[in-house]
Amino acid sequence: MSFDKIIGQQRPIEILQRALEHRRVPHAYLFNGPEGVGKEALAIEFAKALNCSASQQRPCNSCSNCARTGRFEYPDFQFIFPAPKAVTVQDERQVLDSLVKNPYARKKLWASPTVSIDKIRELRRTSMIKPMEGKRVVVITEAHSMTTDAANSLLKILEEPPEAMHIILITSKINALLPTIISRCQEIRFSALADDDIKQGLIDKEGIEPDKAGVIARISQGSYGRALQCLDEEFENTRNLAMDFIRVSLKAPSAQFELVDRILADYDKKTVKEIINLLLIWFRDSMNYMQANPEMQKYIVNRDKMELLQKFTNAFSKIEFEKIFQRLENSIQLLDKNVQMNILLFVLLIKLQECYLVKR
Ligand SMILES: [Zn+2]
Repeated sequence: MSFDKIIGQQRPIEILQRALEHRRVPHAYLFNGPEGVGKEALAIEFAKALNCSASQQRPCNSCSNCARTGRFEYPDFQFIFPAPKAVTVQDERQVLDSLVKNPYARKKLWASPTVSIDKIRELRRTSMIKPMEGKRVVVITEAHSMTTDAANSLLKILEEPPEAMHIILITSKINALLPTIISRCQEIRFSALADDDIKQGLIDKEGIEPDKAGVIARISQGSYGRALQCLDEEFENTRNLAMDFIRVSLKAPSAQFELVDRILADYDKKTVKEIINLLLIWFRDSMNYMQANPEMQKYIVNRDKMELLQKFTNAFSKIEFEKIFQRLENSIQLLDKNVQMNILLFVLLIKLQECYLVKR
């Protein structure tokens, strides 16, 4: 089936399929939506479809055009991404190779790179000559990072788009694009992915076992790109820290100080935020576990830690979940306001302890 490499995003796929079927593909699309939801992956599949030699079900993913487009070797397909001015051919190829390997995980080699005027000038030059084999397809990802000059130069192409040329702009920050550029593109909106879609993607594409895939799907907040980042060792580490946090929340202040020190010595704000998000999931799981209705247990995320969950919830006659959720959500907000993390974490531990009613 065509577009079967894409996770979720039924609506954008339908729009593109319809355009292909009716042979009414606009000169310029703008793929707009959050990061990590598959805009680049779908743009690549669509580029294949535009030059696919199959008579239907495009992209077929087996013809030479599909294969070469997928490897970024089709002469009329160009994928432009932000890079430093002095970027080497090898570095550019490294980025493209990361997309060949996984179109959801483009390697980001540089801090705040831009799409330069040189790239767009070159594009203007090539857009004036006839494509070599089929239709010219150009993807410009992170289009919001075009310099002003580059954006103005692109606008000239969009104002008089050559025949047999399709441009796909991709952005997660539409407000940073020139309104005149936006108005010349057909906008396609991408939404955050459903947890179940991410979970299935992790199982099918990355070979992750279902329980772990479920936990990662829940904390990646609709972004498959984010979910992929969670697959590394670092994530298991963060998860263990969250478990330590729960354990220590039952203990004396000295143990609590020690843990807070350990976390802050080795980890940054991003990790602390992740820990708090994991705590939110843990307490939601505990609440579901303690429900008299066993049906609620199917919502438990930490399925690989059922034994621990049982031990934890059995220790208390009551846990004040509402207060805990409020406190955790509040802590996340405070983190964004740059509150001192040691105080924040220590207060959080004390407040958690107040919400447990230990069995007598
Ligand atoms: Zn094909």
